[in-house]
Amino acid sequence: MQVLNDNISRANAYMARFREEGVMNHSGGENVPAASGETFETVSPVDLKPLAKVAKGGAADVDRAVAAATEAFKTWGKMPGKERRKILIRVAEAIESRAEEIAFTECMDTGQALRFMSKAALRGAANFRFFADQAPTAEDGQALRTPEQMNVTSRRPIGPVGVITPWNTPFMLSTWKIAPALAAGCTVVHKPAEFSPMTAKLLVEIAEEAGLPKGVLNLVNGFGEDAGKALTEHPGIKAIAFVGESGTGSMIMSQGAKTLKRVHFELGGKNPVIVFDDADLERAVDAATFMIYSLNGERCTSSSRLLVQETIYDDFTAKVAEVAKRIKVGHPLDPETVVGPLIHPVHEKKVLSYFGKAREEGATIAAGGEKVGEEGCFVAPTLFTGATNGMAVAQEEIFGPVLTAIPFKDEADAIEIANGVEYGLSAYLWTSDLGRAIRMTDTLEAGMMWVNSENVRHLETPFGGVKASGIGRDGGDWSFDFYMETVNVCFPRTEHAIPKLGG
Ligand code: NAD
Repeated sequence: MQVLNDNISRANAYMARFREEGVMNHSGGENVPAASGETFETVSPVDLKPLAKVAKGGAADVDRAVAAATEAFKTWGKMPGKERRKILIRVAEAIESRAEEIAFTECMDTGQALRFMSKAALRGAANFRFFADQAPTAEDGQALRTPEQMNVTSRRPIGPVGVITPWNTPFMLSTWKIAPALAAGCTVVHKPAEFSPMTAKLLVEIAEEAGLPKGVLNLVNGFGEDAGKALTEHPGIKAIAFVGESGTGSMIMSQGAKTLKRVHFELGGKNPVIVFDDADLERAVDAATFMIYSLNGERCTSSSRLLVQETIYDDFTAKVAEVAKRIKVGHPLDPETVVGPLIHPVHEKKVLSYFGKAREEGATIAAGGEKVGEEGCFVAPTLFTGATNGMAVAQEEIFGPVLTAIPFKDEADAIEIANGVEYGLSAYLWTSDLGRAIRMTDTLEAGMMWVNSENVRHLETPFGGVKASGIGRDGGDWSFDFYMETVNVCFPRTEHAIPKLGG
């Protein structure tokens, strides 16, 4: 209790400035209010009390930020990669030095538990370091030779880009997009989610204090339908990197069509964890529960469908239910808390609505299935058993600490259920049979698969989904391919014959 009280006082101290100053937009190195003068309130999901007034940006604010990003691109885009690297490494160091402030602010703004958010800043810094290290060679291409010609490819930054992020782990996700864009030589206009604007403000402030030139990273707060839409439609923005719901991705694609926007989408998921009876079941229980009940289940790669072979279904789901019932739900700043409050009452209402739907559809609530306490957006870790794949709880992304368990008979049945959703982000497979692992991973419709493991990220590997879960890949060099244009120059190696026309 003492630790929690200390943490709350520290969080209050960190956020006092936001209460006083509000969360402004940031354009060309200046903190600026919205052109309209309008603000909206961001509330903490812990107690629904306001944390700060936030600038409510719109088209005029996007115009201003794009103008700043366009001006800054003239120098940032031409700066040698090794110079950009130096600056971005300093940004990583500055993030690390303010890790506690970032973590505490994120916990209060999003409801994510400190035990996971304490690493958010470090992961954000790791993103900056990883992509910074590739900046010096990002423009390098290939020499493609024939006896007659030599073709030389190289890459150039595409220009000012828009980054639009969701509220689930905002700091980490923003850096995952912004760091490679900056390393590639692009300048950025960032539109963070309206439910979680605070750490985006910290990021731009930290980056500029560490030496990022003014105008290279700009921030426009506001709602998707105005600030977000204006950014996706702006002719000065060459590409949109978006993380959020599949439906929003579809809207962004049509909004960006007129200006032929390049888009990169990381969207929703309804990811299966498939457990065969020959698996190491103790490890499988730990991994399955970790992947749905950590980060409040508000995680795109959460294993929200548990597919268990019918021979072990009852025992396995009983063990998962036991874990779910033991999980501590509480204040996000309590180091013991695993599940904190969901982001916002609007989202909480959506998650709670699935408890009624599950009952109506005939599933059993084996754990949770209820709100916790009167205050804030707390929901109990939940397990639905006896579900079939046609149920809404098996098809729709609930995005909370809610797991739907479905029995399967054999490999073919598991594949049919696993692939029988519109999404295809990640899949997790538990079996001790190598041949089966190869057959299954050859057939599963998912952009990322883990065998006998929870989601372990390695920044070199491609991250992204298939079907309604996304377009494009992040990580390694894939990020640079998105933020850069590949160009080819052809040189003759011989005095080859040029066709003579007209005589
Ligand atoms: P959301 O789609 O509602 O909002 C995401 C962002 O888009 C916000 O900043 C919002 O303001 C903006 N936006 C909304 N309408 C817009 C419009 N018309 N034009 C431009 N911008 C607009 O998503 P959310 O509820 O904030 O986040 C949860 C979703 O994000 C889930 O579906 C989750 O799976 C997904 N997600 C995916 C990944 C991934 O890597 N695949 C990672 C994290 C979250």
